[in-house]
Order: sequence, then C-alpha cells, then structure tokens
Amino acid sequence: MQKKRDYSDTYRHKGMRKKLIETLREKGITDEAVLEAMNKIPRHFFLESAFDEIAYENRAFPISADQTISHPYTVAYQTQLLQIKKGDKVLEIGTGSIYQTTILAELGPQWVYTIERQKKLYEEQQEYYHFKRNYPNIKFFFGDGFKGLPTYAPFDKILITAAAPFVPPMLIEQLKPGGMMVIPVNEGEAQRMMRITKLSDGRLQEELFDEFSFVPMLQGKTD
Ligand code: SAH
Repeated sequence: MQKKRDYSDTYRHKGMRKKLIETLREKGITDEAVLEAMNKIPRHFFLESAFDEIAYENRAFPISADQTISHPYTVAYQTQLLQIKKGDKVLEIGTGSIYQTTILAELGPQWVYTIERQKKLYEEQQEYYHFKRNYPNIKFFFGDGFKGLPTYAPFDKILITAAAPFVPPMLIEQLKPGGMMVIPVNEGEAQRMMRITKLSDGRLQEELFDEFSFVPMLQGKTD
C-alpha cells in the first residue's frame, strides 16, 4: 500500500516541520541535536499518505496492526532523556513505524537494534523502509522486547516505546554499567516516564519524569 506513494519532502512539509520544532521548544525540549534530527527526518514518510497534510501535528496516528506512531513530543522527550552519544550501542523496544528508530540512528550511535513483536508491522515497515530513509546503523529484529537481545548485549542505552507493566529484569541485565534506560512504566491509562541509570557498581538509580500514554508492551510475539 505504501509502496506506490510519493515520498517527496516539499517546502510545505519543511515549513510544517519547522513549526513543529518551535512547538517542541515551547514545550520544553532543549537538546539541539534532538531538535535538529527531528527537523531533518520527514515524519510524513513514516505515515500513510492520507496523513500527509497533518503529519506535523503533535499527535499520534494509527499505523498497522492497531498500533500507533508516538507523538512527536513523546519522541523528543524520550530521546532527550536518553542522551545518545556518538558510538553508543542502543536497543529500542517497539519499532512500530521506525520513526523513533530513525531519530535515534540520526544522532550518531554505532548501532540501533530495534525489536518489534507484531509480525505484520515488522515485515511491512521494513519492506518499505528504504523508500523513507536508509540508515546502515539500524538492525531490525522480530521478537519479544521483554527478552531484549542477549547476543548483542550489553547496551549503552535502552529505550522502551510501549507502556511497560514493570521494568523487565532481562533488559536491566543487558544494560552496561554507566548505561541508561528510558521506560514508561505502569499499566492503565497513564505511565510515568522513568530513567534508570546503572551505576558503575551495578546499583540502579531511578529518576521519575512526566506522565504519558503509550500502547501496551505485551509479552510474546505474534505469528
Ligand atoms: N517507536 C514507535 C512506537 C510504536 S507503538 C513509533 O514511534 O512508531 C509501540 C510499539 O511497541 C508497537 O509497534 C508494539 O507492537 C510494540 N511492542 C509492544 N510490546 C512489545 C514487545 N514486548 N516487544 C517488542 N515490541 C513491542
């Protein structure tokens, strides 16, 4: 369906994107690298063409398999908390539209490993990804994010983009000492954004931030 669409980034889109960046600034996003990445990546490429004119509104949109692309503010907020550094090894849970993945990849990490549990989403999104953007530092996986990727661990940064009922112990294990995880925790309507830093002695330091509303992080993967 997406294959036939026109992936052009017009002046109109660029203008709308600039306005969105101003809105993100007004809402408190200060990390210039994050704002720059979001100004560069055309969000409308990651949505059905029907949303072309409204892709830069600060809202979520439906993607395949009853999932959603996160609000731009949420993407900016989580990415800012994660403090990506050049050369980082990053793990993302919840590939979804690949938009957040691409923003991470643009910030210069060595690798972004991203896991999706919905087979349909995983296959469709990847099939068309090369029309949208091509980042050689992204590796896609179909699987259950609760388990992470032990083979590629440990990670400098871990980002969860779905509502986690609890902090998955296997993901904590896969975090490097000095590494950080950003995770929206709690079931139900709202989740509290949490940043967990693994200290050099292995102890965990937790910081709490604002409330958000994500689709649920679910166990297992679909066929
Ligand atoms: N970062 C995405 C967010 C998509 S919504 C974007 O901005 O487009 C959250 C995604 O997490 C959904 O695609 C959902 O299928 C996926 N997800 C939920 N539980 C998961 C799990 N246990 N492992 C991997 N992905 C999961």
